[in-house]
Amino acid sequence: MKVDPRSIDTTLATPTAVRRLVEAHGFTFRKSLGQNFLVDGNILRGIIRAAAVSKDDLVIEIGAGIGTLTRALASTAGSVLAIEVDARLHPILKETVAQYDNVEIVAEDAMKVDWHDFWETHGLSRAKLVANLPYYLTSPLLLNLFSQQVALDTITVMIQKEVAQRFTAEPGTKAYGTLTVLAGYYSDVEICQVVPPTVFMPPPEVDSAIVKFTMRPYVIEAADPALFWRVVKAGFGQRRKTLTNALSSILGDTISKAKLQDILRSCDISPQQRAETLSPEDFVVLANTLTEYWRV
Ligand code: SAH
Repeated sequence: MKVDPRSIDTTLATPTAVRRLVEAHGFTFRKSLGQNFLVDGNILRGIIRAAAVSKDDLVIEIGAGIGTLTRALASTAGSVLAIEVDARLHPILKETVAQYDNVEIVAEDAMKVDWHDFWETHGLSRAKLVANLPYYLTSPLLLNLFSQQVALDTITVMIQKEVAQRFTAEPGTKAYGTLTVLAGYYSDVEICQVVPPTVFMPPPEVDSAIVKFTMRPYVIEAADPALFWRVVKAGFGQRRKTLTNALSSILGDTISKAKLQDILRSCDISPQQRAETLSPEDFVVLANTLTEYWRV
């Protein structure tokens, strides 16, 4: 069901509202925590629209800030679990989300959350993740969610444009790498909207983008996900080398170079190819073939 844009609570998404709250509480922005608060109602509506939030959804937000996106989510979702690490923001959040009884503020560091425990503690089944992410934790957080195979249907996040482009890059390009392959293994990725620095307070130095990851069944399943990750990381760890050389360095003595070249050929991959020319499925086929010879 489509959300009526007029029902989205955008009260806090203005420079005046943010400034007033920040000043009233003597709050000072911390760059190290990626604190760039959204001050634009249209972009806020854009996030909700991209995430296709409805009353049927349980939404997890990471980095609630002063509650700007939290309120927009509360007004459109069934319920919201909003994680915020900065204790100085908790009293502000208590005030700004007070009128919503479907919001729970979780005072935790998203980088330290064990997502399976989190699911159990909060009695979750499926959920959506929607966030204006602190940029320093984008890659580790998303890779963590993917590797733990958290039961998320979609992940809709505001991230740095340059990182967004890495997630959606085509094989053979400079931006194509570990992030593209791992995300592409678990999900379909799309850039929904590019966003200028001016919609944040304070403005970050770079453009941002709203990116949506839609989880789906694997195209080909990795028999040993840990090995698949290892192969991808080894391939791109030395991306200027041929796959034969890049992989030899992790295989050590377990498989000879000649054998490795045979294995690559049996996967329809030339031993001279570089990692950046392989699709996520090529990597899975390669890792699955290697599984027969080698365990991590
Ligand atoms: N959602 C708000 C704030 C975005 S700024 C808005 O759109 O305006 C990013 C927020 O993430 C900040 O509030 C910051 O304190 C918080 N944050 C940073 N690191 C975090 C972590 N490890 N775990 C949880 N929250 C974090």
